[in-house]
Amino acid sequence: MPCFGLLGYPLSHSFSQKYFTEKFAVLGLRDYVYENFSLADITGLKDILAERNDLLGFNITIPYKKKILDFLSEASPVVTETGACNCVKIQDGRLIGYNTDVVGFETSLLPFLKPYHTKALILGTGGASAAVAYVLRKKGIGITYVSRTPSANGISYEAVNSEVLSDHLLIINTTPLGMYPNIAEAPDIPYRFLGHQHHLYDLIYNPEETLFLEKGRLQGASTQNGQEMLVLQAEESWRIWNN
Ligand code: NAP
Repeated sequence: MPCFGLLGYPLSHSFSQKYFTEKFAVLGLRDYVYENFSLADITGLKDILAERNDLLGFNITIPYKKKILDFLSEASPVVTETGACNCVKIQDGRLIGYNTDVVGFETSLLPFLKPYHTKALILGTGGASAAVAYVLRKKGIGITYVSRTPSANGISYEAVNSEVLSDHLLIINTTPLGMYPNIAEAPDIPYRFLGHQHHLYDLIYNPEETLFLEKGRLQGASTQNGQEMLVLQAEESWRIWNN
């Protein structure tokens, strides 16, 4: 029975399992399955790989997108550069790592990009921010990270003022702030300085409109959530597994 799956922890609400189960039904792949591998410790992956020779590939989510690199026999150039992997193809017992978040983010962002989107703020410095930064750099868009613990290439939330916002017309939220059930939360930036040239992208897809996006929309900014990216990264995984 060809098996695919999702590795992460905890995996209470998995978009991927529902998405692929429905996809297999539509394609008439009746013996295909997509399982959730919810592992409190990633070392448990060794047992799964030893026991399940029907496993052909899997996706990786929080908190293992970086830790999975230790298990790979081969990594795509994007995985090597971002240090993050969300898709593994198993071939002859070898684990080959890819980053399909990059494809999902880039393809979904393109229709919203305007010539004046030359600088971006990336809120958060976790696994997803690496895919976002990779795409923006590739497009020649200057990036500034905003972090609770600012470093050499990032600033604090307190430093985000009117000047910073007028200089950075693209703002990507890669933090979990505002994700269901904590829908009353939003990154702490001065939204009153946003205007119609700003584009706000929230990687969160539940709720459909986070407080971050709502605050931007009320200021006249264009907005998008993470739903399209989610579907595009899943489809790219499917393409890789079948290639
Ligand atoms: P993560 O590794 O847990 O990191 C997110 C970053 O957000 C952290 O590194 C942290 O950066 C910041 N952060 C965390 N808690 C915070 C808080 N309470 N207040 C302020 N900042 C906080 O998560 P991730 O894997 O990067 O994913 C981030 C979000 O993107 C999640 O909501 C996830 O569901 C979503 N996502 C969506 C897609 C999609 O296809 N749409 C794909 C990947 C991820 P600092 O420590 O620097 O502040």
